[in-house]
Amino acid sequence: MASIRLDKIGKSFGAVDTICEIDLAIGDGEFVCLLGPSGCGKTTTLRMIAGLEQPTRGNIRIGGRDVTRAQPKDRNVGMVFQDYALYPHMTIADNIAYPLKVRGMAEAPRLEKAREIANVLHIGELLDRLPAQISGGQQQRTSLARALVHPADAFLFDEPLSNLDARMRVEARAFLYHLQRSRGMTAVYVTHDQAEAMALSTRIAVMCAGDIVQYAPPLEIYRRPATTFVAGFVGDPPMNLVAAQATRHGQCVALHGAGLEVSPFASWPALDQALERGDRVTVGMRPEHLRIATGDAGPNRLYGKLFANEAMGPESLVTLDLDGGARVTARLFGDAPVRIHGDAAFAFDPAQITLFDSSGNRIDKPE
Ligand code: ATP
Repeated sequence: MASIRLDKIGKSFGAVDTICEIDLAIGDGEFVCLLGPSGCGKTTTLRMIAGLEQPTRGNIRIGGRDVTRAQPKDRNVGMVFQDYALYPHMTIADNIAYPLKVRGMAEAPRLEKAREIANVLHIGELLDRLPAQISGGQQQRTSLARALVHPADAFLFDEPLSNLDARMRVEARAFLYHLQRSRGMTAVYVTHDQAEAMALSTRIAVMCAGDIVQYAPPLEIYRRPATTFVAGFVGDPPMNLVAAQATRHGQCVALHGAGLEVSPFASWPALDQALERGDRVTVGMRPEHLRIATGDAGPNRLYGKLFANEAMGPESLVTLDLDGGARVTARLFGDAPVRIHGDAAFAFDPAQITLFDSSGNRIDKPE
């Protein structure tokens, strides 16, 4: 396996800059997800690593070798596509063995190799069938087997699970995790599904409008999102974001927003240097850090009206429309029904909030 490195890579289609100028270093044996909304440039970035698209500027190295101008076949990467791209007239065995055929391997050994990898992926009994005669999940495994049959330096995945139903997707995700970790494969994986990125990655590159806005391990991204965009994209339900303004209390700072009160931050000493009275901020709160407020009104509360109360089994998702118009959701653990009606309030611990400045960048908190 090999490391992958993108240095100042840019891509324009005509006059449009699709990828601005990105740097990305992927270690040998890492599983890196390119995560972002539709159109942010994930597939274009992956296709440049594969050699299916030429960068307008910058360099790409695989295993230390500059492959920027190399043909796809000379990069020694395996690729799994969203639509599987199986040849409909070939059997499953021939589809899997195809990369070995184009490299000139004789029929008997290549079919033996195809059988070996098919057995690993639990599709060994389907080798004589045509793609139309197997399920979507089995086609996905066939496509995976075809990528894996030839030893490659790295594997590139373009939303390989998106055509599967929800249950199969979760099953296939765990399978991919196990396969990658047990073989130490270097993998780059495109997805717009944050749960898939959280589950599979050693590091996630969150992309927005042709740029990488944060590149870090999944839990770092979850706990310390760099911007409001990342905060609102990662997590299901995502981080609640509520607008507020700073006020001063001696050496401390308090925050007020419509439907939101945050008490002075005695536990965040640097905040009084970061914020002036009247500064606009965004307060971020993860749903699991909110609880139903009981007792008298007080600080560290969100006030609103009940919008939805969804019992999910082991947890409930309770959503309030705040007095200021924002909508916030709490994840409340436990299988008892949550009793809540009409006007309601959530409480939170101010030590658990994340703050963003008026440009949407996280304000650093002492650890
Ligand atoms: P999705 O999740 O919808 O697949 P993505 O993040 O993978 O989106 P890309 O497919 O990389 O996004 O596309 C990024 C942008 O580049 C889009 O605006 C797209 O229309 C544009 N684009 C991609 N390929 C071409 C092309 N061959 N010619 C012109 N524009 C293109």
